[in-house]
Amino acid sequence: MVHKSLSLNINGIKRKFSKLGFNISVLARDFSIIPKDDPKQALRINRFFISFGIYILNLSLCYLAYNAGMMQLSELYWYGIIILGANIFLYIIFRTGLNEWMKDPSLTSVQICVASLIVMYGVFFIHEARGILLSLYILIMLFGTFRLDTRQFLHVSAFILATYGADILLLHFSHRQDLNLKIEIFQWLALAIVLISVSFIGGNISALRHDLSASRKKLQASLVTIKEMAIQDDLTGFFNRRHLMELLESEHNRSVRTGSVFSLAMIDLDKFKSINDTFGHQAGDNVLLTFSAIIRSVLRKTDFCGRYGGEEFLVVLPETDLEAAKVFAERIRVCVEDSFFPDLKKKSKITVSIGLAEHRTTEDIEKTISRADEALYRAKNKGRNRVEVSA
Ligand code: GH3
Ligand code: MG
Ligand code: MG
Repeated sequence: MVHKSLSLNINGIKRKFSKLGFNISVLARDFSIIPKDDPKQALRINRFFISFGIYILNLSLCYLAYNAGMMQLSELYWYGIIILGANIFLYIIFRTGLNEWMKDPSLTSVQICVASLIVMYGVFFIHEARGILLSLYILIMLFGTFRLDTRQFLHVSAFILATYGADILLLHFSHRQDLNLKIEIFQWLALAIVLISVSFIGGNISALRHDLSASRKKLQASLVTIKEMAIQDDLTGFFNRRHLMELLESEHNRSVRTGSVFSLAMIDLDKFKSINDTFGHQAGDNVLLTFSAIIRSVLRKTDFCGRYGGEEFLVVLPETDLEAAKVFAERIRVCVEDSFFPDLKKKSKITVSIGLAEHRTTEDIEKTISRADEALYRAKNKGRNRVEVSA
């Protein structure tokens, strides 16, 4: 078991490495700042750029602080280098796809922690006006609404409070600035209240977003089901009669346009009523299911089948003339006759009668169907379990 999971992990890592290699080679070939072919990564990188923009605004603020004599040039310089360095690093991680190795590929918590460390640097060096930078923490937390739940928000808040607290202690013990410890502690407490509140509000917003995206996914899945239901028969999964007629109409048009031939095979289960009467309706349903699996296994990729009536199926054989259709129909007949139907007694057999007609470009599709139906009627009259063709 352990061995298996280990080998699975190794395979996973191999896959990720090859994806990383692929990403890098694609990047080297045709580079774009935001990936065009991966909407999820594009969204993450877009968010990254929003936060980068905020860093630049923050840096401009610090430049003003430097002009006002609240910050040294070297401190501003290092602040810029740290911001640029951290962002280039994050961008490389996103753009090479390394982020997809992480549990949260949007790296929300990582980005928030990096941002609060950067603000921690600013708080340490910007004199007196330190309080102004506190509002940046709220901004940083806002990014969490993209991803974090309340618990993760509280963890991030604890991290921010720890970094800010560490700042105050460092400033206090290094005697870099004259601190009024009382005010600083009061400020820290106020920040704690704000961050905890933002954690709960942000967690709620995040949950709302999550619910919204979950119901959107459900809606999309329902839409797929509805589309399938509109064209499919519930029991057999074959096309329903309405959709079958639509497809037949376009097959007819194609044949008029290109002169291509196609044939129809009308298949009806023999004495099916007695199956229901003897084994019950459920067994009858299961026989229809097994029968549809048999048909599916015989159909070519281009053929298609629809449920024309209760136990009557119409198979459309494109590019197939009557001779080839006969071979196909005979194969189906024998296949059904030789098949074992688990819901019936061992010796019970299921047989089908088949009527064939080749479409003529001069007739409409209803006419071809009725000729196949007549051939089927003949097959029934001649004793069932046989194939008849419409001349
Ligand atoms: P024949 O050989 O002449 O075709 O005889 P038959 O008994 O097959 O034909 P008939 O038309 O008299 O009866 C068809 C039966 O198929 C009647 C109907 O109850 C049954 N049937 C139709 N659709 C379903 C279905 O979806 N499930 C089940 N279990 N039975 C169905
Ligand atoms: Mg029948
Ligand atoms: Mg019938």
